[in-house]
Amino acid sequence: MKFLCDQMLGTLARWLRLLGYDTLFSKGETSDEELLELAKKEKRVLITRDKLMSHFARKEGLRLVKINSSNLEEQLFEVMEELKIELDRDLFLTRCSLCNGRIRKLSEEEKEKAYNQKLIPEGAHLSTNEFWLCERCGKYYWVGSHWKKIEEKIKELEERTHEKTKRISNPK
Ligand SMILES: [Zn+2]
Repeated sequence: MKFLCDQMLGTLARWLRLLGYDTLFSKGETSDEELLELAKKEKRVLITRDKLMSHFARKEGLRLVKINSSNLEEQLFEVMEELKIELDRDLFLTRCSLCNGRIRKLSEEEKEKAYNQKLIPEGAHLSTNEFWLCERCGKYYWVGSHWKKIEEKIKELEERTHEKTKRISNPK
């Protein structure tokens, strides 16, 4: 499943990438017509907060998620619920949050080289032995405090999804 977010949803777009979804987002220079065209051409689910935009998307028969919340976790939840998708841990952190490129794990040799060239900070090298690289933009990733925070948020979201499912399947 591929996504296209409107310009109001940049943070959501970066999170969807971290969850492993191929996600593009409008940075503002794209017109509404161009955005609709792109969603249609690349068969992307359009994610928007804009009423007018969702109206046009419906008219065009595009797959659409209309976001109502301004809270990130709520927004992720809205996407998952609307499209009936579950978080897939195998996809988690396979895509670059900056450029949507693929992230791959570094080999021992590559790690050594990156470390010697000071592309990986010394502190990071001390705390973990696993590093990833975005093949498109060259950003390095490792599980630091930022990632731990992200994982916690994902877990929260999963628990909430789980509770919701329980409520649906066990009506009292
Ligand atoms: Zn990248």
